[in-house]
Amino acid sequence: SLIEALREPIKIGTTEIVITTSIGGAIYPDDGEDAETLLKHADIAMYRSKEIGRNSFQLYKPAMNARSLERMAIESKLKQALKNNEFSLYYQPKIDSFTHQIVGAEALLRWHDSELGFISPANFIPLAEELGLIVDIDIWVINAVCKQIQQWQNKGIFDKRISANVSALHFTQGNLAQSVENALNIWQVDGRLLEIEITESIFIRSLEDAKKVLKALKQLGVSLSLDDFGTGYSALSYLARLPIDTLKIDASFVAKVPDEYGNSQIVKAIAAMAHSLELNLVAEGVEQAHQLAFLQELDCHAIQGYFFSKPLSVEQFELFCEAHRPAKIALSVSS
Ligand code: C2E
Ligand code: MG
Ligand code: MG
Repeated sequence: SLIEALREPIKIGTTEIVITTSIGGAIYPDDGEDAETLLKHADIAMYRSKEIGRNSFQLYKPAMNARSLERMAIESKLKQALKNNEFSLYYQPKIDSFTHQIVGAEALLRWHDSELGFISPANFIPLAEELGLIVDIDIWVINAVCKQIQQWQNKGIFDKRISANVSALHFTQGNLAQSVENALNIWQVDGRLLEIEITESIFIRSLEDAKKVLKALKQLGVSLSLDDFGTGYSALSYLARLPIDTLKIDASFVAKVPDEYGNSQIVKAIAAMAHSLELNLVAEGVEQAHQLAFLQELDCHAIQGYFFSKPLSVEQFELFCEAHRPAKIALSVSS
C-alpha cells in the first residue's frame, strides 16, 4: 500500500530516515457534494488517523466532525495561551515514605482558558507537541519553576528540590540544557534545587544525543528523573549508561498493588533494580494506605499521590508546607 511504500527508509548521507504517513479519505457524494467539503472532511479524517497513532488510513465519519471542531477550537486557543498568560503551575509534594516529611515537589502545568475552562495537560500537551508549541511551553515552565524556587527560598518557605516535566521532543527540538542554564542564571537558582523529569521516549530517537543533553544538565547540578517508568520503551541497558538519579514508578503499577500478583512482582522488580543501581525511587499515584505500606516494605524512598496531597496552587502549597514543618524549625521560629 501507499503507507508501506512510504515507510521504506530513505538514506540521506549516513542517516536513515523513516517517514510515517497518515491518510484520510472522504467519498463523493456521501461525505460531501463539492470539492471543498470533500477536502475538508478528508482533512478531518487525516487528523483522526494521526491521533490514533499514525501510519494508518481513516475514512471520514460524521462523528469525527464534532471532535474535530472541538479540537480546532482548542488548537487556536492553545496557540494564544502563552501570550495571554493562561498557564499556571500547581505543585504536588513528594513525601518521604518513612518520616512523612516533604522531600520535594513536582510542578504540574495547568491551563485555564476563559471560555473552555480548565483543560488537562494530558489533553493539551500532546496537542502542543503536534503544533510545535511544546518547546516554548517547556521553557516557560522551567523559568516559572526557577522563579518559584527563588521566591520560596527567599521567604524561607521551601528549600527542597522541585521538578519540572519536559517533553521528549525537547531533546530533538530546541536546546534544553541551554534553556535550563539560562533560567538558573536569570533567577539565581542553584542547579541542585531543580530536577528535570523525562520519559523513556527520549531514547527512541537517539541515545547518543539524549546522553549529551543529560550530561550537560548534570553539569549544571540538575537532577534527572525518569517519569512513568515501566510504561515506555524499556531498553534497560540505558539505565546503567545514563546519568539518571531517580526512577518514578508509574501510577498504573501503583494502582494495582498489592492485590494483583503479577503487577506487584513488577513493582518489586523495579524497586530491586533501583536499589542495586543506587537510584532514588519515587512512587506516583499513591492513593491508599495499603499501597503506601506495600511501597514502604520495598524501601521506596518517596511517595507522590492523593494519599498525601493533590497538586496544590501556590497558596495551598505554602499552607501545606506550614502544616508539615518539622518541629525543630517551628521552635526556632517561635523563640
Ligand atoms: P506526570 O508527570 O506523570 O504527572 C503525574 C500526574 O498524575 C499528574 O497529572 C498528577 O496530577 C496526577 N496524580 C498525582 N497523584 C495522583 C493520584 O494519587 N491519583 C491519580 N489518579 N493521579 C495522580 P496531570 O497534572 O494531569 O499531568 C498529566 C501529565 O501531563 C504529566 O504526567 C506530564 O506527563 C504532563 N505534564 C504536566 N505538566 C507538564 C509540563 O509542565 N510540561 C510537560 N512537558 N508535560 C507536563
Ligand atoms: Mg512527571
Ligand atoms: Mg508520571
